[in-house]
Amino acid sequence: MAAREPKKHEMPVQKPEVRAHNFEEVALGYTAEIAAAEAQRCLGCKNRPCTQGCPVNIDIPEFISHLKNGDVEGAYDVITKSSSLPAVCGRVCPQENQCEKECTLKVKLGIDPVGIGRLERFVADTHRQNKTGAAARPQPNGHKVAVIGSGPSGLTCAGDLAKNGCAVTVFEALHTAGGVLVYGIPEFRLPKSIVADEVETLKELGVEIMTDVVIGRTLTVDELFEQGYEAVFIGSGAGLPNFMNIPGESLSGVYSANEFLTRSNLMKAYRSDSHTPIMKGGNVAVVGGGNVAMDAARTALRLGADKVYIIYRRSMEEMPARKEEVEHAEEEGIDFRVLCNPVEILGYKNENDPRDPKNGTVRAIRCIRTELGEPDERGRRSPHDVEGSEFELDVDTVIMAIGTSPNPLIKSTTDGLEVNRRGGIIVNECGLTTRENVYAGGDAVTGAATVISAMGAGKTAAKAIHEALSSR
Ligand code: FAD
Ligand code: SF4
Repeated sequence: MAAREPKKHEMPVQKPEVRAHNFEEVALGYTAEIAAAEAQRCLGCKNRPCTQGCPVNIDIPEFISHLKNGDVEGAYDVITKSSSLPAVCGRVCPQENQCEKECTLKVKLGIDPVGIGRLERFVADTHRQNKTGAAARPQPNGHKVAVIGSGPSGLTCAGDLAKNGCAVTVFEALHTAGGVLVYGIPEFRLPKSIVADEVETLKELGVEIMTDVVIGRTLTVDELFEQGYEAVFIGSGAGLPNFMNIPGESLSGVYSANEFLTRSNLMKAYRSDSHTPIMKGGNVAVVGGGNVAMDAARTALRLGADKVYIIYRRSMEEMPARKEEVEHAEEEGIDFRVLCNPVEILGYKNENDPRDPKNGTVRAIRCIRTELGEPDERGRRSPHDVEGSEFELDVDTVIMAIGTSPNPLIKSTTDGLEVNRRGGIIVNECGLTTRENVYAGGDAVTGAATVISAMGAGKTAAKAIHEALSSR
């Protein structure tokens, strides 16, 4: 076996001091030369450990073998047999915990794994740039399906059903399709134009997208059946933010990360002509250690914060965010305060002037230091407060990024739809809920998870719906 370069080829990026002040994409993508060189690092393992690590089982050695031969379209065809959103997944999947974690280069040779995600992105972007003409519309099969939510689970389910000839309508509560891909993940990590292109491809396949329709308010699931839809897929995500229930959370200047990111992403709150207010300048504390926390912190920085803290109760090693996002955040100057936890948010109170506009706004956050105990049954070490170690940080804005739960609206308006104690819709292995002809998948079932797992669930349900409708 020829020796392999020990390091993954670097991803070209915008310089930290430049990108911290703009919303343009941070990672610029491999050039054709870099992609070709990175593809050469792949051993083409017959037992495909990387494919087994991929939640949708992309045939990774096969797509990379096409790249080795300079055949980008061949690589694209291999990837899209398993994944309908490669330009998205190449950018946001946690590859270090999935395909790249299993790569032989890492496991057996102890060197960097192949940059599978970066190659996937290269393939998808090159295909996009060279694309000519619209996707062909499949032959209609006479069946009609409704999809609730236009996040990765809904888009994937809709796309797969449309390819089988179903007439699919996607009902989306917001004014733009894409789910978290547009309202949560910021432009500097996932440009909106990429998601818009994916939505356009679905429309070419005949999928109808109805925005500003809240199922459970504008229309119910029962009314969808009355309108002739034969099956319904619920991909409504987990958009209900969790809070810590500590004193001071109702002060002005405390946001959930979802609200903060939606204001910035969809309502363009950062523009001077925007009618949606959002923090500008000052010090910001973001509570949490996941991707959402990194996105909120880096958005706050770009919106002009003087100083941004990440407050996380475990250590850097336990952070659930993608490694690359943590590294990028550190390079941009985000101040990580790990092993500490907020206990109170403190507000201004001008005793001499009750009409002082600063009254009731955030002044500081009080935290306590933590230390990690023994690992629990899931292998995670639980943080314990260190008595007497409280300290304060002067901040003007606090953003809570400590998780989200599924919204109960659809459950509460749909008879026979059962959920678990965390509000996740109960489904069988095909995505079928406890209600006949109603399927569900993605974060609405699992709680906040990943893009690729939501896509996988959309795929599984589409297959089951197609089989059920075809056997009628
Ligand atoms: P969503 O993407 O949440 O889409 C659900 C859609 O349903 C939304 O558009 C919503 O408006 C709509 N909807 C809800 N209720 C109704 C209703 N009643 N009627 C009509 N429409 C409705 N994952 C990764 O893999 N990598 C990352 O880097 C990453 N970063 C993230 C960053 C942020 C800020 C956030 C919030 C999440 C991130 N995730 C990441 C998680 C990932 O985005 C989600 O797991 C994924 O989007 C879930 O897909 P979904 O289709 O289940 O739901
Ligand atoms: Fe290539 Fe790594 Fe997959 Fe082997 S495990 S085929 S080296 S990407």
